[in-house]
Amino acid sequence: MDEVTVAPIQPYAARKTYLCPGCDGTIPPGTFHLVVVPDHAPDLRRHWHHGCWNKDLRRRFGADASLN
Ligand SMILES: [Zn+2]
Repeated sequence: MDEVTVAPIQPYAARKTYLCPGCDGTIPPGTFHLVVVPDHAPDLRRHWHHGCWNKDLRRRFGADASLN
């Protein structure tokens, strides 16, 4: 299992448009989102919509990982 570090990006800190790997959609500047950095490969950091990352977590780890 890959270890990742997930950090929130506040709207004021989101200055570029990013591509979300969860939905292949764009994250416009000024949008709260998450940056996910593999601990073993910091160069592979990806930006995710908050909702897409939570969906991906549930897909990978099942209902037990749900934050409901
Ligand atoms: Zn997305």
